[in-house]
Amino acid sequence: MDNDLVTTRSAPGRVYLVGAGPGDPELLTVKAQRLLAHADVILHDDLVPAEILALAGPQANIVSVGKRYGAHGATQSEINARMIESVRLGLEVVRLKGGDPGIFGRLAEEIDALEAAGVPFEVVPGITAGIAAAASLGVSLTDRRKATRIVVITNHQARAKPGAASTDWRGLIRDDSTLLIYMPGRDFSSLRDELLAAGCATDMPAAIVSRASVPGQRHRFTIVGELDKLPRMDSPAVLLIGASLGRAHRRAKAGDSAVLGLDEAELILSSL
Ligand code: SAH
Repeated sequence: MDNDLVTTRSAPGRVYLVGAGPGDPELLTVKAQRLLAHADVILHDDLVPAEILALAGPQANIVSVGKRYGAHGATQSEINARMIESVRLGLEVVRLKGGDPGIFGRLAEEIDALEAAGVPFEVVPGITAGIAAAASLGVSLTDRRKATRIVVITNHQARAKPGAASTDWRGLIRDDSTLLIYMPGRDFSSLRDELLAAGCATDMPAAIVSRASVPGQRHRFTIVGELDKLPRMDSPAVLLIGASLGRAHRRAKAGDSAVLGLDEAELILSSL
């Protein structure tokens, strides 16, 4: 075991692109925890909570480079420059992103910059929000009897830019798919119309999980035909759609939150 630990210890002159998981420090990988303890520089997104940053060593310079909702934070090229500069100074650099770094985390742009600069890097995966959300609901995203595909998608591009083409849901909507919709936006009325127009069944189960794995976690259940009636949820939130959510629906309907160890406030029924 000790030998394993030594071989995975951080190497200077390399940038670690690390997933911080959905927020609960216990869902961080052991490797991420060790890299945080050794890093000289930690560049982190907004989604990373203070409890995880507290795992940094005393030597660490912790820099928030979050750019949530496009406000304040550093630009992508500033983040890239900072990583490259720090590594060239011989510092151990951790670029820490919420969830998994390779899922809607602009990882590709950072890898491009590191490769162009000839800086070695390593990607350390993390538990992505959709997977954590499914776990918090006590459901399996696949079920060989009815769910054989998982579609990971964001609704953000379509809604962020006025005039941008909306998501093409045709081909994604199938009875055997579970959809994990990141950055689902707030316009659930248009989303409902688009999903129904693409052939989604009106009574297809849907669940929205906000703040998965962190205090204030909330679940709300509905069906696609009534998505428009969902009230606003705290962000971040992920929307799950598919027959595999049926089990969570049945529990919610029966008022059976105890099976998940959730208190009533965490399990909110909406128009079932
Ligand atoms: N790389 C991240 C996703 C970044 S995009 C990952 O793998 O999880 C940001 C979106 O992720 C949010 O808008 C939300 O849809 C989702 N998200 C991140 N953390 C979440 C959490 N704790 N609970 C619910 N959704 C979350």
